[in-house]
Amino acid sequence: MHDFKYINNELYCEKVKVADIIKKVGSPAYIYSHKTFVEHIRKLQAAFKSVKPLICYSMKANSNLAILKAVVNEGAGLDIVSGGELYRAKKVKCPAERIVFAGVGKTEREIEDAIRYGILFFNVESLPELELIQKVARRLKCKASVSIRVNPNVDPRTHRYIATGKKESKFGIDLGLAEGVFSNTARYPNIELCAIHCHIGSQIVSGEPFVEAFKKVAAFIDEIEKKYKVKIKYLNLGGGLGVIYSNEKPQTAAQYARNILPIFKGKKYRLVFEPGRFVSANGGILVGQVIYVKRTQVKNFAIVDAAMNDLLRPSLYDAHHEVWPLKRSSRTEKEIYDVVGPVCESGDVLARERLLQKLHDGEYVAMMSAGAYGYVMASNYNSRGRAPEVLVKGSKFEIVKKREDYQTLIAGETIPAFV
Ligand SMILES: *Cc1c(COP(=O)(O)O)cnc(C)c1O
Repeated sequence: MHDFKYINNELYCEKVKVADIIKKVGSPAYIYSHKTFVEHIRKLQAAFKSVKPLICYSMKANSNLAILKAVVNEGAGLDIVSGGELYRAKKVKCPAERIVFAGVGKTEREIEDAIRYGILFFNVESLPELELIQKVARRLKCKASVSIRVNPNVDPRTHRYIATGKKESKFGIDLGLAEGVFSNTARYPNIELCAIHCHIGSQIVSGEPFVEAFKKVAAFIDEIEKKYKVKIKYLNLGGGLGVIYSNEKPQTAAQYARNILPIFKGKKYRLVFEPGRFVSANGGILVGQVIYVKRTQVKNFAIVDAAMNDLLRPSLYDAHHEVWPLKRSSRTEKEIYDVVGPVCESGDVLARERLLQKLHDGEYVAMMSAGAYGYVMASNYNSRGRAPEVLVKGSKFEIVKKREDYQTLIAGETIPAFV
C-alpha cells in the first residue's frame, strides 16, 4: 500500500505530480509520502488495539527529522541504535518514556546520555554491556531500565545479511546465558531488569518464524518469572515485518496480530514493537534522470544520475526495486535494461534486466519502495553529494533535507601544513 500512482500517465505522490517536484529540486531526489508513513503506523495500532502496545518506529530505516516528527505525532515512540539517533529523537521531542535503545556496541557516553534523558529501557545485547550499564548507573546514582535481548535461534528465512536471531549472529544473548542474568540480579544493583527483547531479522514475509521465536520467548519469560521471582513489564518483539518490493506476499498487520496475539493471551506484560521497513519502505521513491541509453552487443544500459551511493540496497543485498517511469509512454515499445548509476563500480546496478518502456535520454525513472534503508545508507562515494529529500503531504511538498553541494562535500577537511 502506498500513495504513488499514475494519473493520466504521470506519476503522482499523493496529490503532487512527481515531475513538478523534480523541476523544482532537480535530480536525483528522494520523495516521501507523509500519508504512507502515518497510515502504516495506524495499521499496526489498529491491528493490536486490544493490547495497546507501544510502537517504537525503528528510525535507522529512515531518520529524517520530518519523518520522525510525523510518526511521533501519531503517538509512536522511537527505537534508536546510537547516540546520533538519540540526538534526533530529542530534536523531535520524542517523550523519553517512548524510546528504546538497541545495538551491540553502545559506548559509555551513549549509555550515559540515554540514562540522563530517561529512556524507557536499553535492549542489552551482551553481558559486558550489562556490566557497563551497571557501572554508569552506579556512577549516576540511579537505576537503569534494561531489556535483555534474547537470541531465540530461529531462522527467519530472509537474506543472511538481515537475519539476526540465529545463534551465530552477533545480536542478542542466548537463552541459557540470559537465564543466568536473572538468576544473579544481585550482581546488578543499579539495573532494573524489566523487559525481554527479541528481533529476529528483517523483511520476514511469513508468520511462522515470528510465531516460532515468540513462543520460545514467552515460555522463557514464564520460566524466569516463576523461578527467580522477577516481573517482566514489557516484551519487545522487535521489527522485521516484510513489505512488498515486487511480488512478495507479506503478512498484513492484521494477519500478524492474529498470528501472534494468541501466544500472549493472559500475559501481564505490555508488548512493544519496533517496525522500521514496514512503516517506511513503501513511503519513499528515489527519482533519477536517464543521462544516456548505452547499447552494447549484449545489453542495454539505462545510465541514470542516481547511483549505489544514493541507494545501496541493490548492490548490498541484491535487493529488488521496481522501476517506474515518471511519464508512462503511450507507445508500446519495450526493451530490457540494466538501470545503472555513474559510480565506478561494476556493482553500481540499481535494477537488473528489467523489461521497461523504451527509455530516452533526459527521461526520469523512479526506484520504488526506497523509503527504508535508502537515504540513511547513502554515502559520498565518488564525491557525489547526497540527493535531497522531499516530503509530500496532500498537495503540499517541501525539501526536508537539501542537496549536498561541493562545499558540504569537503566540509571539515583540512590540508596539514606538513603536506
Ligand atoms: C533494524 C531493527 C529493527 C527494524 O527492523 P525492520 O525490519 O526495518 O522492521 C527493529 N529492531 C531492531 C533491534 C533493529 O535492529
